[in-house]
Amino acid sequence: MLADTHCHLDQLPDPALALAAAAAAGVTEVVAVSESAASMPAVLALAQVHPGAVLPGLGLHPAWISQHPHEDVEAGLEYLAAHLPLARVLGEVGLDHKWALTPQAQAYQEEILDRQFALAAACGKPINLHSRRCPRQVMERAITFVRETGLGAQLHWFTHSRKLIHQCNKASIYISVGPMLLEDPQTQEVALAVADDLLLLETDAPVPIAGLPNQPARTRAVAERLATLKGRPLEEIAALTSANLRRYLSGGRMTL
Ligand SMILES: [Zn+2]
Repeated sequence: MLADTHCHLDQLPDPALALAAAAAAGVTEVVAVSESAASMPAVLALAQVHPGAVLPGLGLHPAWISQHPHEDVEAGLEYLAAHLPLARVLGEVGLDHKWALTPQAQAYQEEILDRQFALAAACGKPINLHSRRCPRQVMERAITFVRETGLGAQLHWFTHSRKLIHQCNKASIYISVGPMLLEDPQTQEVALAVADDLLLLETDAPVPIAGLPNQPARTRAVAERLATLKGRPLEEIAALTSANLRRYLSGGRMTL
């Protein structure tokens, strides 16, 4: 049994078909993250139609925050505050310096992220984080969140630096690895530095990766490549990452 722990399921042309293809490939759970005011109700609707298979994530993405008027962001936060108890995780949230070039724009993203963290802490939800062009800042915020709340934190697509991975391992931050692992030697090298008990799988579908269309079924190819790289059977990778997902969702870390 495999799980795609970061997927924009509501943005796929046919989510039901994508879920069926995923299940046929042994990918039986999908954490469906949202990123906009409109995607939050869409994700909740998918979770209602596919209970157990879709684990809903609610949150506002930093790129969306930077591209929308403050009133829209406030309305999104209001929806989030009212509906986060129905979600399994807060996400996709984080910081994105591609869309925030000035100190003011960056401070605004940070303010909205802090407010979303406060909602997650109040509802007891783990967090699913985006960190484009500012991995260290997001990692440090994740570490503080985990230390203060005891809840889980996951950094998605965070395979740029072995040095930061070591800090994540020490602070019990989960890292999800995705289809970049199939093509990119640097991602492969960094992914191998993630502690076994903090490793998760993802696709970030439908974002196309390495020029190929992307969907949650691709989690299986990621798991297979990881199994080869680690020299371990696929079943072991599946069992390990599934156990990690359960622990991430419930907070805490296995004692090694
Ligand atoms: Zn994403």
